Amino acid sequence: MNIVETPSRAMLVIPHPDDGESGVGGTVAKWAQEGTSILYVVCTNGNKGSSDTQMTSEKLASIRRQEQLKAAETLGVQEVRFLDYGDGELIDSHDFLGLIVEQIRRWKPEIVLAMDPVRHLSHSHRDHRISGQIALDACFPFARDFLHFPQHRNNNLEPHKTGHALLWGTENPTDFVDIENTLNQKIKGLSAHVSQLSSDQQKIEQFVKRRAIDAASKAKNEGHEVQYAEVFRRIAFRL
Ligand SMILES: [Zn+2]
Repeated sequence: MNIVETPSRAMLVIPHPDDGESGVGGTVAKWAQEGTSILYVVCTNGNKGSSDTQMTSEKLASIRRQEQLKAAETLGVQEVRFLDYGDGELIDSHDFLGLIVEQIRRWKPEIVLAMDPVRHLSHSHRDHRISGQIALDACFPFARDFLHFPQHRNNNLEPHKTGHALLWGTENPTDFVDIENTLNQKIKGLSAHVSQLSSDQQKIEQFVKRRAIDAASKAKNEGHEVQYAEVFRRIAFRL
């Protein structure tokens, strides 16, 4: 398994508020500390994620937006963009693709992070699959070729080549990031999503730690000395 090098600019395509922190909060905090400029693109407003029958979608969207902003600030994310699709309403459309391409052309990331759209062993939320697939398509070839979404040039957005994507929530990791020094920050960032979590802080800590230890064991199997990790499947684009 390969160690991921810290990029200068990164963009995350996040299906729901909290998927970024729960999936890759340790990596985000580490990179931010090391000087990476990080953009969050949050695709849906998460307005269905509640079991409270007194809750409304409108109220939930507003709560989750605030939670996401607080979490991103905790981790040192530079900017958060909300695309504001409804929860569960992502479709593989030209419009959605154009919005992700637009952010790539604006932010010019060296690397894009998204959720792995391909799972064989278990089911995943359709927003996770679709946002992951769109993120990959946006990197290659759509953001690269100026004749795709040519209207972007009117806003001074030039084509951009992103070299790699890192997919989290993957069944087939190829790369890892050591998050020992930012595990606590990840817990703190995730804890900002109060509407989505147990009120038992210990449970949250255990959940994050257990997953980080599981991830680290995959890197350990290949001879890396690491206690807590986040793992990814790397995609290299032909540019
Ligand atoms: Zn999600």
